[in-house]
Amino acid sequence: MPDDNRLYSYSAVLMGSPILLKLFTHDDALASRVFRLIKQYENLLTVNRAQSQVMDINHAAGKHPVAVSRPVFELIRCAKAASQCKDSAFNLAIGPLVKRWKIGFHGDSVPPANDIAALLRLTDPADVVLDEAHCSVMLLKPGMAIDLGAIAKGYIADRVRDFLRQEGTECALINLGGNIQTLGSPHGGWSVGLKKPFAGDELIGALTVENRSVVTSGIYERYFEHNGKRYHHILDPRSGYPLDNELDSVTIVSKESIDGDIWTTLMYGMGVEKGCAVLHARPDIEAIFVTKTKEVVLSSARHFRFTLLDNCYRVTDSIA
Ligand code: FAD
Ligand code: MG
Repeated sequence: MPDDNRLYSYSAVLMGSPILLKLFTHDDALASRVFRLIKQYENLLTVNRAQSQVMDINHAAGKHPVAVSRPVFELIRCAKAASQCKDSAFNLAIGPLVKRWKIGFHGDSVPPANDIAALLRLTDPADVVLDEAHCSVMLLKPGMAIDLGAIAKGYIADRVRDFLRQEGTECALINLGGNIQTLGSPHGGWSVGLKKPFAGDELIGALTVENRSVVTSGIYERYFEHNGKRYHHILDPRSGYPLDNELDSVTIVSKESIDGDIWTTLMYGMGVEKGCAVLHARPDIEAIFVTKTKEVVLSSARHFRFTLLDNCYRVTDSIA
């Protein structure tokens, strides 16, 4: 922890998200290198432009395998493994549905049920075939598409942390728009706000963490309303519709941000009760569930402290 307590903030917009870097040194050059690193990963992984390594794979769906760089291959391997876990709501092959719904993008709409049924047939993770020796990926059916939107920010947050550590930085925070990774511990730890759903910048509470990632996924950032019903961007890979349950948001506290990103989606699919039961066997992954009935449920709180700031909410410990 540096003697000078001043915190310097640097911001950018990348991956369609506000990016915030906090350092204890005034270092424009280091901040620029961090933003450049994020940009490089965005260029490899984005599906929001015509070209990237992931788009090369998607364009070749049903035709041929595509060789990619080792980090892209490893990230896809990890995303496929998460998709094939028991009862997983995570699916790296969800791309055709994401593109059809366009939630969070211009032109969003509720697709006809027969469109959803047809697109669901293009989302089997087993149809994403990895070839270790050639470092290549093939999508077996035409129209298939990989989407790493639920994992890539976590992966990139970890790479930023590694880069800063390698540069000799002892204490820093990177926020990739809901994906926070921290390095070191300023006096008393890092304080991270837990947002109140549908209430702008208002907070439900604050977490204090050291050397941990804090990832939040919610239904209140990217959504649209149609005929009085709200449609948010976390899709249920079984039905093809937005996941509909008791949750407004899930936050995961973990060492690696990639785990936080994956587990927010897994927990979204399981809900509070099953999620807490599953996390019982994973002391390294901790969840904070915020329900529509204004409950804040902590699966455990070994690696963070939570302070409630809004008395409309009640904090409950998991009974699992
Ligand atoms: P998470 O809950 O972590 O993930 C939700 C996202 O994952 C969805 O938006 C969808 O993309 C995908 N998804 C939905 N359901 C599932 C599921 N069941 N399993 C797996 N994945 C699912 N946004 C822009 O507006 N413009 C951009 O140019 C842009 N570029 C981006 C480039 C990159 C490299 C990345 C990683 C993201 C980019 N984004 C962009 C944001 C992106 O579209 C997602 O909205 C964002 O990644 C969602 O992150 P999250 O943490 O809010 O949600
Ligand atoms: Mg995620």
